[in-house]
Amino acid sequence: MIQNPIRSRAVIVAFVSAFLAVSATVVSAQSAPEISYTVSMSKPSSHLIEVEMRLNWANLPNQAEVKMPVWTPGSYLIREYARHVQDFKASAGSRSLNWRKTNKNTWQIDTGGAKSITVNYKVYANELTVRTNELNYEHLFFTPAALLMFPKGQISQPSTVKVVPYGNWKVATGLPRVAGQQNTFRAANYDILYDSPFEVSDFVEKKFTVRGKEHRYVVTGEGNYDLDRMAEDTAKIVEESAKIFGELPYDDYLLILNLRGGGGLEHLNSTALQFNRWAFNSPQGYSGFLGLVAHEFFHLYNVKRIRPDALGPFDYENENYTKLLWVAEGTTSYYENLLKIRSGLTTAQGVLSSQASIIEGLYGQPGRFETSLEEASFDAWIKYYRQDENSINNQISYYSKGELVSFLLDIMIRSESNGEKSMDDVMRYLYNEFYKKNRNFSPEDFQRVCEMMARSSLDDFFSRYVRGRDEIDYDSILNRIGLQLVSSRSENDDAYLGANLSASGDALRVRSVPAGSPAWDAGLNVEDDIVAIDGFKISQQFLTFYLNSKKAGDKVTLSLFRHGKLMNMEVTLGRTPASGYAIRPVENPTEDQKRIYQGLFGSSLN
Ligand SMILES: [Zn+2]
Repeated sequence: MIQNPIRSRAVIVAFVSAFLAVSATVVSAQSAPEISYTVSMSKPSSHLIEVEMRLNWANLPNQAEVKMPVWTPGSYLIREYARHVQDFKASAGSRSLNWRKTNKNTWQIDTGGAKSITVNYKVYANELTVRTNELNYEHLFFTPAALLMFPKGQISQPSTVKVVPYGNWKVATGLPRVAGQQNTFRAANYDILYDSPFEVSDFVEKKFTVRGKEHRYVVTGEGNYDLDRMAEDTAKIVEESAKIFGELPYDDYLLILNLRGGGGLEHLNSTALQFNRWAFNSPQGYSGFLGLVAHEFFHLYNVKRIRPDALGPFDYENENYTKLLWVAEGTTSYYENLLKIRSGLTTAQGVLSSQASIIEGLYGQPGRFETSLEEASFDAWIKYYRQDENSINNQISYYSKGELVSFLLDIMIRSESNGEKSMDDVMRYLYNEFYKKNRNFSPEDFQRVCEMMARSSLDDFFSRYVRGRDEIDYDSILNRIGLQLVSSRSENDDAYLGANLSASGDALRVRSVPAGSPAWDAGLNVEDDIVAIDGFKISQQFLTFYLNSKKAGDKVTLSLFRHGKLMNMEVTLGRTPASGYAIRPVENPTEDQKRIYQGLFGSSLN
């Protein structure tokens, strides 16, 4: 999609430009573009990041174009970063240059034959997520794709970034430093530049070493975290990952942690993490944090290096479609569990209960019959990041269902290969045979590699649960390792309404209505405000109490406001579906079941 600049015109003007360069500036024009950025933050309270981009190039066209990416890898939504750009200027020496926008993210500059130009602009940065920018009294966090423009057609070129910090702030990024130049870093190309977030603040720092390589936490914000313990536990996760692939494929690794917001984004030799500052000292909170670390760390293999077909080199101006996000994200979420087990940071029971809760969630989601894992992956750009009240009925998450299906697939591979192969072998093969050979993998490659390890066809599994939308037959797979799905409460005659409600003033507001539920059949709508049931004032507590006095098949009348108008609606209550799902050992497991279970979890089945 990205074109090379026209060279012929540049040759003609090369003589002129060389002449001008002597009088205007002392830099010499390069045959390959020399691209450098200076990022400043002179007034943090303005939330405006100041960017200066210098382009020095013998082949600079008469109409040079610079472009802002519209998205950043790892977060599959068009975010239109250009909307935050302001105060755009272009100049050659002391001469200002005319420019115009030619589309939403492209600035076209009349260079007038200059071979060395400077572009200045500001970017408004007041959104703390792992894929946006934030500048305030406390720090600057920036996502390079959301800040630094690229010259059209030049994303394979190297560049440097110099940061001028505010006050006593320090600079952290995964990019290597340029020797002898303060706070200046070098990126070999734009895929690397855009893959290296920056944190600039008075951060707290902790270094630790795994397999001779330096790892570093930088933490901005106060909270109840214990950085020594975090470093120790992270080192275990790093070591367990290295055991799978045999190596740590970087010189050093940086963990940027902001103690606000939430979530993480994977990068080649770094990660951006955000976590609740007060959540570290509860066992559940800390376990959640380690899960986030394990997830983002495993990504440096799975997705950053083991690359699905469309994910790299990237097109930064358009959607990059792939059917494999369920492997990129779901399999990574599955490994988040495995790495924690192998590091002694959780138990098999913890993992099985999280799989059971995914199963319970799916049972409450009619969208599982509408969208397959591959379809959910492909449509991430318009669905996953744009969920609405109907999402429950028309989609599934490639994260959670992808995690569950990866777990089931690992069981299939282990049992079909009689315990000799596993998902580890699949990941390792993709790493060695695809990443190391500079190839991306396709959905067909993934199935083929899984089948190679299983030594049998998995086409039925893939066609039903990956490409298809079948209800998963859990027990037929779980039984292979001596497990079964049970529910503490089976389907019964207790009254069931089916709508998801939350308190809203004196009413219960309908948040979603699963297709096929009694509420759906009666015609209840999202945003309806229910105020009474059979004429009695409603509350969450009263509704539970009142439904307990009813049975499936009974009728109730709901009084509700819709669009400000009061109406009554008769609902025939249904049967209560099974709930309280758990994955438990079968009675009297065989030696084979015990052995394969032990292989997966490293502990015995009991
Ligand atoms: Zn992820």
